[in-house]
Amino acid sequence: MSSDHIKMVIGIDDTDSREGMCTTYLGALLMDELSSFCKHTGDPLLIRLNPTIPYKTRGNASVAFCVECREPDEVIDHVVSRISSLAELDCENTNPGVVFVLETDFTETKTELGDFFRSAVKDVIVIDEAKALAGKLGLTFRAFKNGRGLIGALAACGAMLNPGWDHSYEYLTYRKKELWGTPRFVDSNSLYEADESTYPETWDSVDRANRVAVCVPRSPDPVLYGIRGNSRQAVSKAVELIRSEDTERSCIYKTNQGTDMHLLRATCIDDICEMHSYILEGTVETAANTIKGGHSIFVLSDDSGKTIDCAAFEPTKNFRDVIRRLIPGDRIVVYGSVMDVTLNIEKINILSLAQMSEKRNPECPSCGKRMKSAGAEQGYRCKKCGTSAQDPETVSLERNIEKGFYEVPPCARRHLAKPLARFKVSDAVLFPGR
Ligand code: ATP
Repeated sequence: MSSDHIKMVIGIDDTDSREGMCTTYLGALLMDELSSFCKHTGDPLLIRLNPTIPYKTRGNASVAFCVECREPDEVIDHVVSRISSLAELDCENTNPGVVFVLETDFTETKTELGDFFRSAVKDVIVIDEAKALAGKLGLTFRAFKNGRGLIGALAACGAMLNPGWDHSYEYLTYRKKELWGTPRFVDSNSLYEADESTYPETWDSVDRANRVAVCVPRSPDPVLYGIRGNSRQAVSKAVELIRSEDTERSCIYKTNQGTDMHLLRATCIDDICEMHSYILEGTVETAANTIKGGHSIFVLSDDSGKTIDCAAFEPTKNFRDVIRRLIPGDRIVVYGSVMDVTLNIEKINILSLAQMSEKRNPECPSCGKRMKSAGAEQGYRCKKCGTSAQDPETVSLERNIEKGFYEVPPCARRHLAKPLARFKVSDAVLFPGR
């Protein structure tokens, strides 16, 4: 493009409600509309932010894309007017935000927006902090209603200006408008075939163990399905194999999904705060207790003796079988978010297994049969041979679990959680949960 064109990053968030719309759809629509008067540069971004934020509609996503245009004001007006008309503004919880960062501001804003992006993925940010930053950096922005969407919009711009993070891709397809809210048609067999042909370069399209088409949402939003993978090529190959209803449009987003970007390394339980996500090493203190609703919870202690409840909730399905096999003394690393003083496990790495043993009546040294109890506190006696022993025998039992990484199945995966399919083989022994 000629030198009279200016680059601009546009970040958008919080346009949808549980009843409809989707910020990724609005992003895709706006990109298509803008292509008649500007050029798109680079990959559009789908950024997942702190998964514990209670205001989120579903997956706490925001989007950003970059354009080159001659008349930035024309682009800004178009984007603001389309958000005004398309966002679910009647919904109390929908507070859109849109930020425009002009090329002339890139250098000055880069570091601060990059820090804000990382903080929005890991920490909790208040609206005033976002408004203050946008004001301080002199950015053009529009905050609708209480303006909470500015947080995600600024973070997405920060991600665009600081591209060095681990990333994956999602190929999102969108339904024709007249079909929104009706049952989706995606041929289930074709999803399994696409998965078979492209896994582990794509992941979480289907959950084989639980027979769920994870990539097809159930809510009334415009998404038909989304295929996640390591490269544009991998997700495109999978999409070529999928048979479905006709779509209105599609978009391949570069994303921080499947990267574990939300996790902080906690050196001890005292480091841990609500609404943050951690990697924490500790020792199993009590075996899992399964409570009403099917949630399995065990206590983990750190080296200082502090403890925290760790949970595999019912939606994690077969992963609970792994958790239920842990016993006191097992050394593990847990990965997950802390909410309501409980760490919600996304995956674990079992570092070492405690000895499991059982007390049995001792064997008779003469005949090899098990002795019988000789009465309370009187030890054991072999009736046949008359031999006796005071103490029971301690027998080591085989553990029905191995050391290594275990993860929740695809149907329970957090968007940001890195699936074992993305781990390098040299990392450890992996037990993918699919
Ligand atoms: P969808 O993914 O379907 O588009 P959503 O789940 O992304 O919806 P939003 O409607 O975007 O949910 O609501 C999340 C809100 O939380 C947004 O306003 C966003 O700016 C804000 N938010 C995001 N990250 C943080 C954070 N770290 N701290 C505080 N607020 C945040």
